[in-house]
Amino acid sequence: MDKIQMKTPLVEMDGDEMTRILWRMIKDELIIPFVDLKTEYYDLGLEHRDETNDKVTMDSALATKKYGVAVKCATITPNQARLKEYNLKKLYKSPNGTIRAALDGTVFRAPILVKGIEPYVRTWKKPIVLARHAHGDVYKDSEMKIEGTFPIKAELAVTDAEGNETRQDIFTFKAPGILEGMYNTDASITSFARSCFEYALDQKMDLWFSTKDTISKVYDGEFKAVFEKMYEEEYKEKFEAAGIEYFYTLIDDAVARVIRSEGGMLWALKNYDGDVMSDMMATAFGSLAMMTSVLVSPDGVYEYEAAHGTVQRHYYKYLRGEETSTNSVATIFAWSGALRKRGEMDELPELIEFADQLEKATIDTIESGKMTGDLALITSLENVTKLNSEDFIKAIAGNLRALRA
Ligand code: NAP
Ligand code: MG
Repeated sequence: MDKIQMKTPLVEMDGDEMTRILWRMIKDELIIPFVDLKTEYYDLGLEHRDETNDKVTMDSALATKKYGVAVKCATITPNQARLKEYNLKKLYKSPNGTIRAALDGTVFRAPILVKGIEPYVRTWKKPIVLARHAHGDVYKDSEMKIEGTFPIKAELAVTDAEGNETRQDIFTFKAPGILEGMYNTDASITSFARSCFEYALDQKMDLWFSTKDTISKVYDGEFKAVFEKMYEEEYKEKFEAAGIEYFYTLIDDAVARVIRSEGGMLWALKNYDGDVMSDMMATAFGSLAMMTSVLVSPDGVYEYEAAHGTVQRHYYKYLRGEETSTNSVATIFAWSGALRKRGEMDELPELIEFADQLEKATIDTIESGKMTGDLALITSLENVTKLNSEDFIKAIAGNLRALRA
């Protein structure tokens, strides 16, 4: 059988630990036998990041801008323990943070649904995709403990380039307390909104956005206004033509509605709301190992990955020669997502079809009772076979060959 041809290379970002082992197996068993794979390879493994003083991370981000689609393996974000373990020159920043900043992107997290791994919320039938505005707010705030000689008056003060000052009372403390100041920019909120509208159109999903603008009239009110204006001016017609909706509601109302819903929407959230809700969603849908993640820039550049990390504990078992049963589904879906997007951009229907088949073969494998240990623990299926990391991928390869025969 002839291999499927590609036109433009994918940007391939290799990574660390157990996911690096899975990466190789996925390529060898599930991609290369079927696709004449073209990639531009960047090794973001921690050792190579250290050798290049992290230049490789920025290079991979620039290549993603150039080609439009990347697939990324999970990578270590170094901390003090890693600094020692890998004898690093310095504590490098999170690669995901570097890439996100370079692409000015928004991260969308989507669960993979299979029969037998039921969401904890019984009404959910379709994936709920979460978009978190990963910029500013409480993550870049300034905080103070209020102590000293009371009363202590707290004010907001801004000084412009000409030295003009604007002040606003916050509170007069008569006893100890705490104070916090935070910010965001219209440019960042606008990029976030655009990425969300584009993703919703691309996936033909309703877009929900929620803040607390009744309480935070200026701050959250600005978020609401930016989304509303962009929708009215640029997306209303496109959304109507695609048969999808933009819906704004208060965050507390949104939480209640999401729980009662069937799912199937993209839910856009401010930074803190997205932080909290994304962990709740990953758990509520069953498993972090079944959660995919895609970074989308406002100009339509896509970087696909799994939402989980490098699964360090399994890697140490692997190094000791013990058997591992690590779930490769989210990493496989990162590959299928990237190949499908490449297929759409380059008008390669065979590549799109292959991405669909790869996902179907993966889901069929689990639904037939063959799965890794993490899923075997939570499945409602009977007659389950727990497979090791490699045999699970080989079982998928068997189904994939049958689908393509
Ligand atoms: P993790 O790699 O997501 O793993 C945490 C635990 O979740 C694992 O020990 C395992 O539980 C379970 N798990 C996660 N993915 C799994 C999979 N595919 N199959 C089976 N079980 C899975 O998080 P971590 O241990 O906190 O972080 C490890 C490294 O990953 C860190 O250096 C961190 O910096 C990095 N990280 C990278 C990314 C990224 O690149 N996007 C994201 C998060 C973390 P059991 O051990 O109980 O089996
Ligand atoms: Mg969190």
